[in-house]
Amino acid sequence: MAIVVRGKTECSVCGDVIAGSDDIVMFPHFIWDEAHPLWRFSDSAMHRRCFVDWDQAKQFRRIYNETWPEIMPNHRRTMQSDGIIVELG
Ligand SMILES: [Zn+2]
Repeated sequence: MAIVVRGKTECSVCGDVIAGSDDIVMFPHFIWDEAHPLWRFSDSAMHRRCFVDWDQAKQFRRIYNETWPEIMPNHRRTMQSDGIIVELG
């Protein structure tokens, strides 16, 4: 999972520093192809609002939800439409 240092780490969408009280979402590394347009967002953190408003959110979520079961078949998780990742089962 992305390492977030509040007051230092930048939101990968808006670039603003993530403050202590910000509502954020975090993602593990799940896109390995550095040429992939969404690669830099994998293993990053975002304001939850930035994720929800992000025009790539739908695709990013789809890739996560397709890829994660292949990486971790015994640790099932899904990314919700608000960017929160929840355990399944
Ligand atoms: Zn942001």
